[in-house]
Amino acid sequence: MNNINTNKSSNNLKPESLDWSLIQTEMKNKLGLDIYESWLKKINFVEEFNNYLLLSVPTRFIRDWITSRYLDQILQTIKNYKKEIIRIEFKIIEKNEEEIQKENNFKSIENNKNVSFIKDSYLQYNRIDPNKRFENFIIGSSNKLAYEASIKVSENISHYNPLYIYGGVGLGKTHLLNSIGLEFKKNCQIMFISAERFMYQFVKSIKANDMVKFKEHFRNTDILLIDDIQFMNGKEAMQEEFFHTFNALLDKGAQIIVTADRSPNKLSRIQERIKSRFLGGLVIDIQKPDYELRKKIVKKKIEELNNLYPDQIKISQDIQEFISSEITVSIRELVGAINRIVSFSRIYKKMPNLTETKIVLKDLLNIAENKVTIDMIQTLVCKFFKISKNEMLSSRRSRYLVRPRQTAIYLTKILTSKSLPEIGREFSNRDHTTIIHSVKTIEKLKQNDPELVDNINNLKNQILYNNKENEI
Ligand code: ADP
Ligand code: MG
Repeated sequence: MNNINTNKSSNNLKPESLDWSLIQTEMKNKLGLDIYESWLKKINFVEEFNNYLLLSVPTRFIRDWITSRYLDQILQTIKNYKKEIIRIEFKIIEKNEEEIQKENNFKSIENNKNVSFIKDSYLQYNRIDPNKRFENFIIGSSNKLAYEASIKVSENISHYNPLYIYGGVGLGKTHLLNSIGLEFKKNCQIMFISAERFMYQFVKSIKANDMVKFKEHFRNTDILLIDDIQFMNGKEAMQEEFFHTFNALLDKGAQIIVTADRSPNKLSRIQERIKSRFLGGLVIDIQKPDYELRKKIVKKKIEELNNLYPDQIKISQDIQEFISSEITVSIRELVGAINRIVSFSRIYKKMPNLTETKIVLKDLLNIAENKVTIDMIQTLVCKFFKISKNEMLSSRRSRYLVRPRQTAIYLTKILTSKSLPEIGREFSNRDHTTIIHSVKTIEKLKQNDPELVDNINNLKNQILYNNKENEI
């Protein structure tokens, strides 16, 4: 734990809950994308107390780095939102930040209070990143087909309609979607939106009695790009609207491109008729990058970074090969690893050697082995409270089952990278609102119940320790 006191005064204003994503955005603006992507993005919000925040980072190295370099600025940013906060504490939790990001996005849909910063303009969705173009999409055998189909679609609308691209996290789906958007931007009305935003906008339009505008807006587009459709899990009315929008667009010859983390058949919360629409177009997957592609990406990205800065950085062949062979999970991790190495070299004015590289990349290197599973959490919590797994997963609401169930849900939320709907599914298809409720209940109880805190810490250790044992 790392405590930093900046001032002693604190008032008794009841704190409003802090929106971490807002603070992250501001840190990104303040400290620059480079530093943000390499370090600050790794910080997750854990808990808020009266006058301090508990944050988490994935490794000790990252914590030390952040506290020695950026702590003052982080605290200052937080204080701009909430001046009562006078201290930050870090703890180390190994997590996959990508999933958490998604979860936070999801939370903001749930909680209107938190999304008030999203301006009303529909155009806010069309945030196409000019840096994600076809020209800097590097091709290998795992993504060639998806790339070619995307190019085809950009040249010839309605050739494949819809085009459905799926694959794991960080493999380049959003990059391709962006590239298509950039190609069309010049002469078409395009709409680039994540499924989560679509849901958010839908709910908001209903509340504001503004469905006409919503419909018009979507149906006027020539190109509809929808990212991460797996997060679409809304109520019937929303799926209905989505289906009709979809059909209306196809009828008028608009092009639709959809991405997802899984094939259409495996989308669990989406109506059959929508899935069959997806299957009616071209469905293409992106696989994990092989060694060849990883090496190509490492080389190209280093070149790109070198072009940005006058002081050329030579990253040795050894290190390049090490990164290419060790970071296999996704291209995002790979790019993150390269950014870190380059940050390191710029700050220390030297190249890291292999040992330093391993330290700098520790959390990325371990990602695959450090998975805490929901099953493991459920098993250990059941054992601890002496109930059976069937009881935990049942719908019974007896007191002796409710608390353990909520505890397991809470622990899943803080120890895994699962999104709220995913957690709900693993707990006998409970609704994500139940999941939020459970988490909040435990958080609240923890404030006045030292025994509960003890139990949770105990369980946390068991889960993390159990995980380490499995690794050996
Ligand atoms: P996904 O949407 O599949 O989760 P992204 O498209 O966001 O993944 O890609 C993650 C990161 O990796 C982005 O920075 C992206 O630019 C980069 N990236 C992914 N695939 C490639 C590729 N083939 N060539 C270059 N960069 C890539
Ligand atoms: Mg994406």
